[in-house]
This record gives sequence, structure tokens and C-alpha cells, in this order.
Amino acid sequence: MPSVKVTIDGTQIEADSKRTIIEAAREHGIKIPHFCWHPKLSVSGNCRMCLVEIEKMPKLAIACSTQVAEGMVVHTKNDRVVHARNAVMEFFLINHPLDCPICDEAGECKLQDYTYKYSTGYSRFDEDKVHKPKRIQIGPHVMFDAERCILCSRCIRFCDEIAGVHQLQFIQRGDHTELTTFPGEKLDNPYSMNVVDICPVGALTNADFRFKARVWEMSFTDTICQGCARGCNIEVGVRNNEILRLTPRRNDDVNSSWMCDHGRLDTFKFVNAENRIKAPMIRKDGVLVEVGWDEAIARVASELKSFKKSEIAALGSPFATNEDNYVFQRFAKEVLGTKNIDFARHSHEGDEDAILIRADKSPNSTGAAEVGVVPGDNGMSFNAIIEGIREGKIKALYALEDDLAALPGVAEALSKLEFFVVHAANDSATLRYADIVFAAATYAEKNGTMVNFEQRVQRVRPAVTTLELDRAMDGFEMSRWDKFASHNDKWGKGPRRDARSSWKIVASIAALMGTKFKYNTADEVFNEIAQRVESFRGLSYLKVGTKGTPLKAKTAASVHA
Ligand code: SF4
Ligand code: SF4
Repeated sequence: MPSVKVTIDGTQIEADSKRTIIEAAREHGIKIPHFCWHPKLSVSGNCRMCLVEIEKMPKLAIACSTQVAEGMVVHTKNDRVVHARNAVMEFFLINHPLDCPICDEAGECKLQDYTYKYSTGYSRFDEDKVHKPKRIQIGPHVMFDAERCILCSRCIRFCDEIAGVHQLQFIQRGDHTELTTFPGEKLDNPYSMNVVDICPVGALTNADFRFKARVWEMSFTDTICQGCARGCNIEVGVRNNEILRLTPRRNDDVNSSWMCDHGRLDTFKFVNAENRIKAPMIRKDGVLVEVGWDEAIARVASELKSFKKSEIAALGSPFATNEDNYVFQRFAKEVLGTKNIDFARHSHEGDEDAILIRADKSPNSTGAAEVGVVPGDNGMSFNAIIEGIREGKIKALYALEDDLAALPGVAEALSKLEFFVVHAANDSATLRYADIVFAAATYAEKNGTMVNFEQRVQRVRPAVTTLELDRAMDGFEMSRWDKFASHNDKWGKGPRRDARSSWKIVASIAALMGTKFKYNTADEVFNEIAQRVESFRGLSYLKVGTKGTPLKAKTAASVHA
């Protein structure tokens, strides 16, 4: 690409000649205020907030649609520009209801921020404001307040250009212009809630999160969505150790700036749910009874010793991390000595589209296979294990984090087992058949990695804490809490659950059975994966970073242990 030299606010930069001024400035860390421009949408140029002065041009120009040119000299904050911005802000605020104290967007609102930064804070408008509809349920998950809308058209362009459906439109003219859906229609596309994120004001709000918290009361943790094999990058918003919302994080290699509504709404409530498993449980007189960790671990270690190797099967999980699955497959192969190891595929469980949504509704089926949760030589695959249980060949089953009984035909097989150990975060049909249940930490309560369908390894991080994390046994990374919150406690005051990472539970059982796995933290497990599994070779949590990295080779893993 040919590049040009441009001077912005006295600093000369080199920019791709196809860039607009706002893009070139942004690439060099120079921020030009804007409402309607969004890096992932077409340019509409209607808000006029990005007006800049270009030498030798008689009028101010909008930076979002003016391309850079050789020798161009741009001023983004001289008196003329500042005066124009004040005027633009004054116009925006004429009809705005100024209801920040009760607006969900407060604390992360561009209009609020720019008012502090670029407005004189004085209005000459004495007349009555124009009143428009408020609290409109514009779609099943989105509320609309027309008085707060600054008519930037980002939401319309998102639906047209990203979601591929023309569901929103402006009607009327001048200061009576209003956003609306077409008659009889709703904003109900599978990506509808992204308009909440990109609305620069509080006009579009998340119906699920509405009024649950002020954003400055929350901590935010970077992790990945668990709703399908895409692994969209997300930020988990937490207050008092309770997850209140998920929002997308930009990653151009995975999800651009978006996520689907299913991922946003349906992949965190199980963490807070009432049906969480609160402690290990052992079946006594036909009923699962809560017991201490030591008792449950000792019972599993002694029971498993009473079966022949060929009578035991081990099922890892596409919902567990690579660290959990890796230690589990080592335990199955080296401690239990079974070759009957696999996991249930969820590859074609749902809809798929050309935007983000994948048919595989599990987040880590690629990683589970890569780290070695595959049958050994002449070992049984998942279907053969289920068949083996029916035929009485498999008598003991150890399964991680998956509701196996919900899969067609599996429940009836589970009822035939002599001994069944399950790791689970929530109650499920599978637990009806379990002899021992361990309380597993969810993706939001542990460190780890997962591999998406495009072979990209990405991090999960604890967003809420457990007793285990509180004891700092799993290690943790400080989130942006440090920067934004004033609470003394990173996690807030909410309740702690007594759940543990699956790899750690398995390692405790292995130790009682005579094999010591020498890991103290999840990153130590990952370091071993990086040494022993070819496709992970050389990786570390540092290299995976916040946006992930591709696995080395797109071949099946070879575990050298
Ligand atoms: S609702 Fe928000 S995103 Fe849509 S036009 Fe109004 S201000 Fe812009
Ligand atoms: S596309 Fe998949 S990973 Fe992305 S938000 Fe939706 S469910 Fe989550």
C-alpha cells in the first residue's frame, strides 16, 4: 500500500493513503472524538463531532470521511475546532433528557464523557425539549429510549451490514426524527444486543442487565464465551462475586467486535444458579449426601482400584479446559491404566451461520482431542464405551463436566454402571446415576485455556472467586478491577462456592493412588502441555495473552508422555 506523510497536531505520521484521517490518527494514538463513526461499520458522517481543520481547506472537514493525502496538515484541537465541537455538543444536548443518574449507560457513555471533555457545560436553549417515546421494548432483549437517541445510525448500520437484516430505520424529520422498527416487526435478529454496545448513549439498553448495577461498581475480566466452538472474546462484568453481564471484546481473528445474543444471555447464569453443586457428594442409601473433599477423594481412589483396567472408561469434556482434560487423560492412561478414553461430541447440536454462530455448541472439543482425550490403541471410543456399559463390559465410568444423560440413549446405559464418578458444576439428569459427584469450578472460576474450531488457543480467567481461589491455590491474575474499582476486595462481598478445578481434583485422587502430578497452578499444567503436545509446543500463558494464538500445527496432537 502506498503511504503518505501527514502532520496531525504538529506530529508527522506516515499513513496508508487509503486511510481516513480518523483511522490514521487512531493508528498513531491520536484520538479524534466521534459518535457515529465505528471502525467496523460504513461511514455515515452525520454527527459532525469529528470536525478537524485541514490547512488550505476553507471549511472544517469531518475526519471520518476525509482521506489522508501527501503533505496534509491537520489540526484536531486548535481554537476553531474546539469552538465547533462545543457547538456540536450544545446541539446534541438541546433535546437530551440529561437523565444520567438513572441511565444504565452512565459511566460508559460517550455523550457523558464528551460533555465533560468537549462541552462548555452551558446551554442557551430556553424552549421546551421535544418529547419522544421512552421505555420501548424494541426487541426481546433490547429497550429503547427515543429521547436519549442522538440519531447516529450506528444501530441501523449494524443490522444492515453485520447482522444482514434491515430491522431499524429513522422516521420523521428534523428534531422529530426517531428510530423505529418496521410496523409489526421487532429488533430480534440473533445478534440484536450488539446495538446496545455500539449505541454511544443510553438509548438502547440491555433488557436483561437493566438497572442491575452501575458500571463503576463492577469488575471486568477478559475471557471467552462458552456458547459454541467460535470462542468469542468477551468481558465478564461482576459485582459482589456475581456475574451480571457479558459483553464482546474486539478480536479481529475471532469475533471482530461482536457476539451473539445466545452467548451473551445463556452462558453465565449457570455460574450464579441456585442448582450449583455446593460440595462433593457420595450416594448413601440411594441418596447423594454432601461430604468433605477428603472423604470423596479417598472413596474414589479405593473404589477404582477394585475394577480391572479394561472395565474402566474415562470421558473427558469439551466443556472443560485443556488443563482439566490433559491431567484427566494422564490420570486415565497412567493411573487407571485404561485405553477407553474419549469425550462426547456436540458437533451438530444447533444452528450455524456465516457470521459467528457454530453448530458445535461446546467451546473446547478441538482442545480436548488435541491434549489427548482420544481412545488409546484398541481402546473404546465414546459410542463403544456407551455400548460397552450396556453390555456389562464397562463397569466403572469417570466423567468430567458434561450432562451425558441428556444425550440420546445414554441415560439408560448409565443406569447399568456399578460405579460412576462425575465432575459437575450444576445439578443435571446425569447426577441421578452418579455414585460420587465432585463440585467442579466453572470457566468463570478458574484459569485455563480452550481451543476454538479454527485451532486458536485462548485463555479463560477467573471472573468470580471460589473458596479454592480465595486460598490462592489456583493463582489468579488481577483484572481491570485494580484500575476502576475502589472496593478493598477484588471480588466483592458475594458468596464463595466450594468448587475446584477438575485437574486439581483428579491430581488429588492420583496422589492417593500412588502417582504424584507435580502441578500447583493451571499455568504449570499448561507449561507441561506446551512441552509434550506438539501443536502447543513453545506456548505459555504469556504468549497466549488476552487475544489467543494459533496452535502450531493443524494436525492431530501427538502426546509424548
Ligand atoms: S439508538 Fe443509539 S445507536 Fe441507534 S441511532 Fe440512536 S444513538 Fe445511534
Ligand atoms: S457465536 Fe458462539 S462463542 Fe460467539 S457469542 Fe455466540 S455462542 Fe458465544
